[in-house]
This record gives sequence, structure tokens and C-alpha cells, in this order.
Amino acid sequence: MTPDAPLALLAELTHRCPLRCPYCSNPLELAKASEELGTDEWARALREAAELGCLQVHLSGGEPTARRDLPDIVAAARAAGLYTNLITAGVTLDAAKLEGLVAAGLDHVQLSVQDAQAEGAERIGGLRGAHARKREAARLVMAAGLPLTVNAVVHRQNLHNLPALIELALEWGAGRLEVAHVQYHGWALANRAALLPTRAMLEEATRTVDAARGRLNGRLVIDHVVPDYHAVRPKACMGGWGRRFLAISPRGDILPCHAAESIPGMVFPNVRDKSLRDAWTHAEAFNRFRGTAWMPAPCRGCAHAERDWGGCRCQAAALLGDAAQTDPACALSPHHAMLREALDAAGETAFAYRG
Ligand code: SF4
Ligand code: SF4
Repeated sequence: MTPDAPLALLAELTHRCPLRCPYCSNPLELAKASEELGTDEWARALREAAELGCLQVHLSGGEPTARRDLPDIVAAARAAGLYTNLITAGVTLDAAKLEGLVAAGLDHVQLSVQDAQAEGAERIGGLRGAHARKREAARLVMAAGLPLTVNAVVHRQNLHNLPALIELALEWGAGRLEVAHVQYHGWALANRAALLPTRAMLEEATRTVDAARGRLNGRLVIDHVVPDYHAVRPKACMGGWGRRFLAISPRGDILPCHAAESIPGMVFPNVRDKSLRDAWTHAEAFNRFRGTAWMPAPCRGCAHAERDWGGCRCQAAALLGDAAQTDPACALSPHHAMLREALDAAGETAFAYRG
């Protein structure tokens, strides 16, 4: 059966980044600059993504502005008819760079923040002076007339500042705020004991978001997704494996999700020798967990199977050593108790920075 077209492409242009966030979802082994796809290879991949049916591209990393050819990549995406969203930490986004990106046709900017005040934000991101540079980046984005989303990554060490993060998003001019709980892949899994919030913290955050949504209706849209470790049902990770999204890593691997390279033993096609259409339609890696036929009990026959698609394959691989099992975030999984044990063991204050 031919799968439906993907809606969006996550283009991970580089793993280079001036920040060192302890929750970074980049793999523990980062791609070197010399291994990254070139400008022409990205341009071809973007054309193929549009031909396959993608409507938008998220230009991400690492820090995508670390690439000098970013305006060329934006222009190639626009020429292919894709809506372009830049996902940036903002610390290297100066006026000249933004001007080049706007001229190339950039549509939207998503700016990450590590905390509401400089001291905490710079401790978490591991870069002095970063917060003021992010504020300046937001000002430049607003001056350029681009829509701005603030992406506030929240966890045990900054959730108490959620009200201030909402104020920051308003003050910086964002139309949307993503309250993004850490996903425990890559560096975040290694730092889980320092980052997992308590149930009380999550409940307080939910009350804060609900109140702000009422108060700021029409001014700020706030997205808030409950973190896996406190859920009873898993999220439909990526909208289901190979159903809605695809990602390309800096080295050109074509992935059903940006964390999929963390699954041991899986081999992914590469844009250097496969078209996106061929990879999306035929690659074993895309078909392996597509749909419901692969599912074991308790997913097999479950009424939620076509809602959450069995949860996250990367999380099952990371926690159970087997990507083909039910995500332990599901309360029906026989392994669900291990998430409760991780929550009970959390409370470290020290964390290791991303390499
Ligand atoms: S999470 Fe932090 S370190 Fe990782 S790419 Fe984003 S800004 Fe850089
Ligand atoms: S058993 Fe599987 S399909 Fe059912 S709710 Fe849990 S993860 Fe979803």
C-alpha cells in the first residue's frame, strides 16, 4: 500500500551549536561539519520533499544559522514551494543574517529560550550572554515583520518560572508559545534525573497554562503537551511512524523521526543515494513500524492503536532495548512502572552539558 504523503520535513542542517543544553535531542555522537550535506544536496532534498507532498520545512539543528549557506537553503525551499520555519537558539542571528534570510523568503521563526531570566537561562544553555542576544534576535524578527514562536523548553529546573516565561513571550512579541516539556532522548535521557519534573510541578504548570490561555486569548496561543513520564497514554509520536513527517540528519540520513538514529540495528537510507520518495515509500526502515501490523500485545487490537500508534519507538528502544515493544509511557505496558521509578529517583541538581 502506498503511504499518504508526509506533511512536513525536519531538516537538521547541522549539529553545531554554540549552546550546550543538557536536554538536547541531538545524538550523543554529533556529526562533524565535514560530514554535513552540501548546499546542492540540501536543495535537491528540498525539491524532492515538495514533490513528495510536504508543505513545510523546519530548518533546524543544532543551530542552523551556523551554516553560511542558510540563505541559499531557504531560497531553495521557497523555490520548491515550501513554507520555511527557522528553528534557532537566536544567539548568532544578527541583523545582517536575518536580512539575508528574509530576502531569501523565510516565513517564520521559532526561537528557543532556556529560562525566563539570564542567570538561569545561561546556566542551562551553558553560554554567557546568550539571553540578551536572544532578546535582540526576537526584536529583529519582530522588526522584520516575521511571525515569532517562542519555544520554552521546560523541566524540573525551570518550571517554577513558567509564569515569567509566558510574560517573556508576550514582551518579546511572540504570537505563539510552545511550553515544550523535555523529551527524554539523546542528552536528555543521560540527564533525566536532573530534569524530570514532579507531578506537583506538572499540575501547577497545567493550571498556569490554563489561566494564561483564558487571560491572553487572541494575543498569545499557548501549546502545552503533558510529558510522557506523567501520562497514562503515550503521544502519537510524530503522528505515527512514517505517516506525517520525515527528517533528514546533517549527514543526510532520511529518518521517520529525528531521534530514530538512536535505535540500535536500524539502517536508514541516505539522500546521497536514495530519493525521498523511494525512502518514504519503500525503505525497510520506514515500513518497519508503519501502521499497526507490527504491534505486539497490548497494542495489538487495542482501541487506541490508530490514535497513538503504540507511542514512541525510540523511547521503547531506549528504555526496553527493543523498539518493537509498546512504549512504556502507556499504563497498559507491563513495563510502565519503570517510569514511576525514574520519577521517584529524580531530584539531582547537577547535569552534564551536551558535548
Ligand atoms: S537544544 Fe540547545 S544545544 Fe541542542 S541544538 Fe538546541 S540550542 Fe543547541
Ligand atoms: S496499548 Fe498500545 S495502542 Fe493501546 S493505548 Fe497503549 S500504546 Fe496505545
